[in-house]
Amino acid sequence: MPRKDLTEAAAIIAGGGSGLRMGADLPKQFLPLGGTAILALTVQRFLDTAFFTTVVVVVPAAHRAGAATLLREHLPADAQARLLLVNGGATRQESVRAGLMALPPGTKTVLVHDAARPLVSSKIIEKCLRATEQSGAAITAIPVRDTLKEADADHLIQKTVDRDGLWQAQTPQGCKVELLRRAYDLADRDNFLGTDEASLLEHAGIPVVIVEGSEHNFKITRPDDLALAEGLTRKRQMMKIGHGFDAHRLVPGRPLILGGEHIPCELGLDGHSDADVLIHAFIDALLGAMGEGDIGRHFPDSDPRYQGISSLRLLAEVVGLLAQKNLGLGNADITVVCQRPRLAPHLNAMRTNLALTCGVEKTAINIKATTTEQMGYTGRGEGIAAHAVVLLQPLPA
Ligand code: MG
Repeated sequence: MPRKDLTEAAAIIAGGGSGLRMGADLPKQFLPLGGTAILALTVQRFLDTAFFTTVVVVVPAAHRAGAATLLREHLPADAQARLLLVNGGATRQESVRAGLMALPPGTKTVLVHDAARPLVSSKIIEKCLRATEQSGAAITAIPVRDTLKEADADHLIQKTVDRDGLWQAQTPQGCKVELLRRAYDLADRDNFLGTDEASLLEHAGIPVVIVEGSEHNFKITRPDDLALAEGLTRKRQMMKIGHGFDAHRLVPGRPLILGGEHIPCELGLDGHSDADVLIHAFIDALLGAMGEGDIGRHFPDSDPRYQGISSLRLLAEVVGLLAQKNLGLGNADITVVCQRPRLAPHLNAMRTNLALTCGVEKTAINIKATTTEQMGYTGRGEGIAAHAVVLLQPLPA
C-alpha cells in the first residue's frame, strides 16, 4: 500500500532508448542481469518501495510487446495493476514527456528514473521522494571524486577543473508534476534540449536540490558496467551457513523429547527447557549463520520463562528473527547421535514439526540418526548429542 505520509506519487522509468551500444542485439535495458532483464529489476525496485500508486514504464514502441511479456513474467500480479506501459520517443526528453502525459490525473509528485540503473536502493528512492515533497524538485547525485582535466582535441590538458561543488547527476530525479510540466512546456517553446529532467527545471528557473546518491547506483552503458552490476548483485544474494552442536545427559524421571516428538523411553534428557537436544543444535546453527551468538544468549537457562518450555517455541522465535533480517532457511541437515532408543520410526514426524515451524517444505529439512557403536558417552547411553548445519538465503525482495 502507498505510504500515508507521502502524497500521491508516481514513478516514470525511462527505458525509451533503442541504443545498441552494449554490442548486443537488444537495447541495454532488456539485457539480463543475474538472469532477469534489467528493466524488470529496475521497475521492481520502485514497486517494492510501495511509495508509488503508479509506475509508468516508457519503452521503445518496437519493444513494447516484449517489455509487456517480461514484466508480466517477472512481477507479481498485484504489482502489475500499478504498471502503465508507454511508447517512448526519439530522445530521452520526448520519452519522459510521454510518461508525464500518461500520469493519472491527481498525481502530485513524480520521480523519473533511468531503466538502466537497476541497483538503485529503496533508501535512495525514499530520500529523493522526501526531498521532492519538501522542496518541489530534487535529484540524486554524487560528489565528483576524481581530479577533472579539461583537454583539447589532441588530448592535451588545458587546465585542471576545480571539482569543489561539482556533482555527478544520477537518477531518480523528482519533481512536483505541475512544475515539471511547466518546465517541459518552456523547453518546447525555447527548443531547449536537456540531458536530464533537472536541466529542464534549471532552464525554467525552478530551484532543484541535490540528495546524495551512491556509487552503486550507476548506469549500465558498457559491457564492463554489466559485469560490475553482476558482481554487486551476487554479493547482495550471498548465502550464509551455520553449524550447531549440543549434548544432554539422559536421566530417569524426564520425558524424552527430540525434534518436538515425545519418544517412549524410560530415560529422558536433562535440561532447563524440554532439553530437545536436536532442536537446540538446529537453533545454534541458525543463530550461528545469522551471526547472533548462541541459544544460551537468547534463552538463558537462568530465566524462569524458559523452564520446561517446548523447544519448538524457541525455534519459532528464532525463525521470527530470521524474517526480521530478511533471511529464509534454504535447507538444514541434522544428525542425532543416540545409541538407544531407536529413532528411525520418529524421524519423519520430527521433520514435519521442524518444517512446519520454519515455514519450509519438508524436503528442506533432513534428519539422520546414528549410533557410535557403543563408544563414548553417547555409546554408553549416558546422553544424546546432535549436530546441525544450515544454509540461509536472502528472502526475495
Ligand atoms: Mg541444549
